[in-house]
Amino acid sequence: MTVLVPKESQRLHRLISFYEGPWRLTGEQGADAACVWCGRLSGPDGVDLDSISGRSCSACYLARILWLITWYDWHQHVLGCTPCQQRRTCYVGRGRRVRHELTIMPAGKRPPFCESCHCPVEADEPAMPVRWEGDSHDRLGYGHRRCVTRRAVSR
Ligand SMILES: [Zn+2]
Ligand SMILES: [Zn+2]
Ligand SMILES: [Zn+2]
Repeated sequence: MTVLVPKESQRLHRLISFYEGPWRLTGEQGADAACVWCGRLSGPDGVDLDSISGRSCSACYLARILWLITWYDWHQHVLGCTPCQQRRTCYVGRGRRVRHELTIMPAGKRPPFCESCHCPVEADEPAMPVRWEGDSHDRLGYGHRRCVTRRAVSR
């Protein structure tokens, strides 16, 4: 396990640097002194972000790691789960969604909206995580299950 853990955290680190950028950095942030997200001094336990010359404080970094991990957990489950794909009730999928939603606010993300119809995804609406192709790079987002599965079928 000691081999796997650093590898996995390296992957997450790359993803964070990749998906969370680019930022407009203030002078102090560009100078590596302050956290790119909250603007507080990142301190000795701050984390260097590769894709930009910025630093994150450990609290912001952890919040975004949790957001990413729970998004991927949910995504991976939905991909391999027949009830989720067929729009039936799945408590595992539901649980992973709830766990992910708890990380959205701390990670400074805006509330989920549907990448397909651009409406908010309410907590009581069936939804799925979707990886969306953006202009510069893919984005990790969400979709109403009715919107996403319709799109998948028509493909
Ligand atoms: Zn911070
Ligand atoms: Zn499921
Ligand atoms: Zn929708």
